[in-house]
Amino acid sequence: SAEIIYGKQLAEELRQEMKEEVTELSKQGIHPKLVVVILGEDPASMSYVKGKQRASEKVGMDSELMELSEETPESELLTIINQLNNDETVHGILVQLPLPKQIDEQKVIEAIDPSKDVDGFHPSNAGRLMTGQETFYPCTPYGILVMLKRAHIDIEGKHVVIIGRSNLVGKPVGQLLLNEHATVTHCHSRTKNLREHTKRADILIVAAGKADLVTGEDISEGAVVIDVGVNRVDGKLTGDVDFESAKEKASHITPVPKGVGPMTITMLLHNTIKAAKWIHQK
Ligand code: NAD
Repeated sequence: SAEIIYGKQLAEELRQEMKEEVTELSKQGIHPKLVVVILGEDPASMSYVKGKQRASEKVGMDSELMELSEETPESELLTIINQLNNDETVHGILVQLPLPKQIDEQKVIEAIDPSKDVDGFHPSNAGRLMTGQETFYPCTPYGILVMLKRAHIDIEGKHVVIIGRSNLVGKPVGQLLLNEHATVTHCHSRTKNLREHTKRADILIVAAGKADLVTGEDISEGAVVIDVGVNRVDGKLTGDVDFESAKEKASHITPVPKGVGPMTITMLLHNTIKAAKWIHQK
């Protein structure tokens, strides 16, 4: 039976290290600050932003939650982002997605100063990732990379199969692992014979948002399985992988919850600290 990689435990270790770093920085007069902007009161988004805020406070960072109305016009949001861009006390800006329909999401992503784009979604930062330059890596993909490394899983030369090609998860995780010298295959909703691909994975990353998309039948003996999916089935949180059957064949597997999720928030904190350090190095 597989070794279970608990992102939650690793996240706690990393946050302890960050707490020490934040204390050191504050001695130099640097106080990392994250501002999270949310429009409307969608319960899932609300619980994500509350989690982000709580985590930043726990490591001793400053954090501010701006709760705006669901009806906020695009121009007003862009003005607020511009003010945050120019506010020297603010190091990280995160606008919680998805946004209400009157707002062009891409326009908002591009309005954030790339040096404060702790989500790593700005095209300039996505381009930097693609060209192998230092940047803010998107938090979920980055969390997956750190998790693999800390679990001492070899990436170089390994065949990584990813189910999903979103800008948020699938594409950037593939790019990050390609930069680590993996051979990367992306599968998506139009991929034919999905199992033929998943069976050939040394490392399988599932980010489709479909409960039980992958079972033990779909993987090879000894594969590493990273389950990114978050689905609510009968009120219970589950991933995209049937954990029970997959863990009998995998060498390592992440659970849902307590797997990738806590690592995502941790890397957001990491990016905010990095942003604060960069600004003060300028
Ligand atoms: P998305 O809907 O934007 O993308 C899903 C991708 O999966 C698409 O590229 C699609 O082509 C592919 N896909 C869908 N059904 C498929 C199928 N049957 N076969 C093959 N491919 C299929 O979603 P996303 O934003 O990339 O997120 C993916 C999942 O990860 C969601 O469940 C989301 O909730 C979760 N997520 C978790 C975290 C975390 O921190 N744990 C963070 C972000 C997203």
